[in-house]
Amino acid sequence: MDTAFEQQVRNMAAAMRFPEPVYVTRPNLPPLDTVTGMLAAAWERQWLTNDGALHRQLEDELVRLLEVPHLSLFCNGTIALLTALEALSLENGEVITTAFTFPATVNVLHWHRLRPVFCDIRPDTYNLDPAGIEALIGPDTKAILPVHVYGTPCDVNAINDIADKHGLPVIYDAAHAFGVRLRGESVLGHGNLSMLSFHATKVFTTAEGGALVTQDPELHRRTCLLKNFGITGEESVEAPGLNGKMNEMQAALGLAQLAGLDANTDKRRCLDGIYRRLLKEEPGLVLLDLPSDVEPNYAYFPVRVREDAFGMSRNTLYNALKAFNIQCRKYFHPLCSTNPWCRLETGALPHSEAAASEVLCLPIYGTLPESWAETIGTIIRSLGALARA
Ligand SMILES: *Cc1c(COP(=O)(O)O)cnc(C)c1O
Repeated sequence: MDTAFEQQVRNMAAAMRFPEPVYVTRPNLPPLDTVTGMLAAAWERQWLTNDGALHRQLEDELVRLLEVPHLSLFCNGTIALLTALEALSLENGEVITTAFTFPATVNVLHWHRLRPVFCDIRPDTYNLDPAGIEALIGPDTKAILPVHVYGTPCDVNAINDIADKHGLPVIYDAAHAFGVRLRGESVLGHGNLSMLSFHATKVFTTAEGGALVTQDPELHRRTCLLKNFGITGEESVEAPGLNGKMNEMQAALGLAQLAGLDANTDKRRCLDGIYRRLLKEEPGLVLLDLPSDVEPNYAYFPVRVREDAFGMSRNTLYNALKAFNIQCRKYFHPLCSTNPWCRLETGALPHSEAAASEVLCLPIYGTLPESWAETIGTIIRSLGALARA
């Protein structure tokens, strides 16, 4: 930002600045009474973890809600993903994945002595480009780990065909994809395992939490075993498991939230519509368009900023919005391939690199007032006009 432009932004912000920070997301909080009501029952039972009644009830409710055959709750999504790798006995080899993701996706590989091999993304969906996968498969390839980025389903059929042809398991990082449906069915039905995250920043939250979903009853049995030290009885330990269990306080928060989920999605859809209406014609801004066979969860609102046409870069827009107290996030910058512990040198990942430098995620959450989304959209348009003038 040159100084004259910065001064103009400050002048504009003086009139339109939000009095409090507008975060990119806020947790979906159910009425506190509902949570404490559930906790009262746990207190009565004096049972706080280890396959408690609330844990069991939440697993049942989520199996029904998400229409998946098997779901195992976890203390968080990262440990769930780590456990998925163990359940499939993956170690000492390569896993084909994306660099355009949250660090956890790639970091868990390191804990299994697996090396990430980065495949570039499609510029239109930000998901792994299946066309690039086969060239990366070699004798050390153990699995494919795609991410449904921003909840947009990956090209699951193409990925499935490649995995079948080469006999490779597929684990989906579905941290963003809670409730997303593809062609009328849960997107979690694809691959050997899918991981969900229920972190406070996700559309459905247990503060910290996560789950593994699978179609395979034996894999389900293994994930349940591995999250509880591998213990099968008072005097038997069948596998080297760890502690990945969700506790009753987390489960209570999850259960209390279920009644409000549809309303939350409706509100997010409405905010998504406001941003689309205001920004779709804006020069230099590219919105993420979903095909009609996808039922999204509106977890994120990514906007791609093409500097030449918009008049300023993503980073400049990010900083300018901060002057208005609007805290957007650069999901996902920096790329995971830039981590020093990702030992495999990456080839060029031109689409991933461009996305990491051009995408900005705008605030979207159930309690964001519609008028705020209108104001945010209007500010972005005014900033674009200012930059181009
Ligand atoms: C949030 C997230 C994770 C990690 O989940 P936690 O529940 O926070 O451990 C992993 N992958 C992606 C893509 C995420 O967004």
